[in-house]
Amino acid sequence: PQRQRGVVTGRVWSFRDVSARVHAERERERLLRDAHEAIQVRDDFLSIASHELKTPLTPLRLHLQVLKHALESGQPVTPERVDKALGQVRRLSALVNDLLDASCVGAGRMELQRTPMSLPELVREVFSDFRATSTQHLLTYEGPDEDLLVSGDRGRLVQVLANLLENAIKYSPLGGAVRVTLIRSEGDAVVSVVDSGIGIPKEEQAHLFERFFRARNAPVSGFGGLGLGLYICRDIIERHGGHIWVESELGRGSAFHVSLPVLATRSVHEAHV
Ligand code: ADP
Repeated sequence: PQRQRGVVTGRVWSFRDVSARVHAERERERLLRDAHEAIQVRDDFLSIASHELKTPLTPLRLHLQVLKHALESGQPVTPERVDKALGQVRRLSALVNDLLDASCVGAGRMELQRTPMSLPELVREVFSDFRATSTQHLLTYEGPDEDLLVSGDRGRLVQVLANLLENAIKYSPLGGAVRVTLIRSEGDAVVSVVDSGIGIPKEEQAHLFERFFRARNAPVSGFGGLGLGLYICRDIIERHGGHIWVESELGRGSAFHVSLPVLATRSVHEAHV
């Protein structure tokens, strides 16, 4: 058939699927946003971490300079000065250990060496160490009248309790009361560390166990922190099959609770045979 010019004999519809392109574009935007956030988090972290690591260095340098001067001029070196320098070294190593532990937690590489152990014995031990050194707070302990055996990594459980006690002291006024209790609740042992300190705003309580989280009422100077302690504690406790949670009221105080499954109980009489 002969084609007539200018007469429409049919139509060709051309569809191009752009949804893949739109999707790729959105994905690219999301990746850019994530990368931007990651850079922001990294920068915040670097500035907090370097500030925290630098803080003990200034007094440490000062103590060492005084000691050097004393040695050079034949003056006596006071043990208090050495203790103060050591205190700053301890603070530095605690920060570095938190950083190392947090990177293990993040990579899922926190390993536990668990053995059966008496939880009341362990809690009493940590409590006694704290009571001996924290003379400016009123520390009390109340334990169960039976022995509670748990399967735990001793060092890691000590770390958790020490962290909760340190926080209770750090976020309480001088002379404040800190109460430690250990009870059995059905199949679990529950350790609580209760303080009458600054408390935590309600809306922030859900975030306390996240990495680098510090509540807005946490003091920024003096008792700074990296916001890693509770993040590490939660990982340790959950790897033990337990739970960690908080109850707190702003300006009134906080209670941190840790529960661990009990392996067996023994009457105190039996435990001491
Ligand atoms: P750090 O104390 O080093 O900042 P943590 O992970 O131990 O880090 O605690 C996270 C945050 O939780 C703290 O910065 C503080 O805001 C809050 N917090 C923890 N324990 C207490 C407490 N006992 N009382 C009030 N606030 C607390």
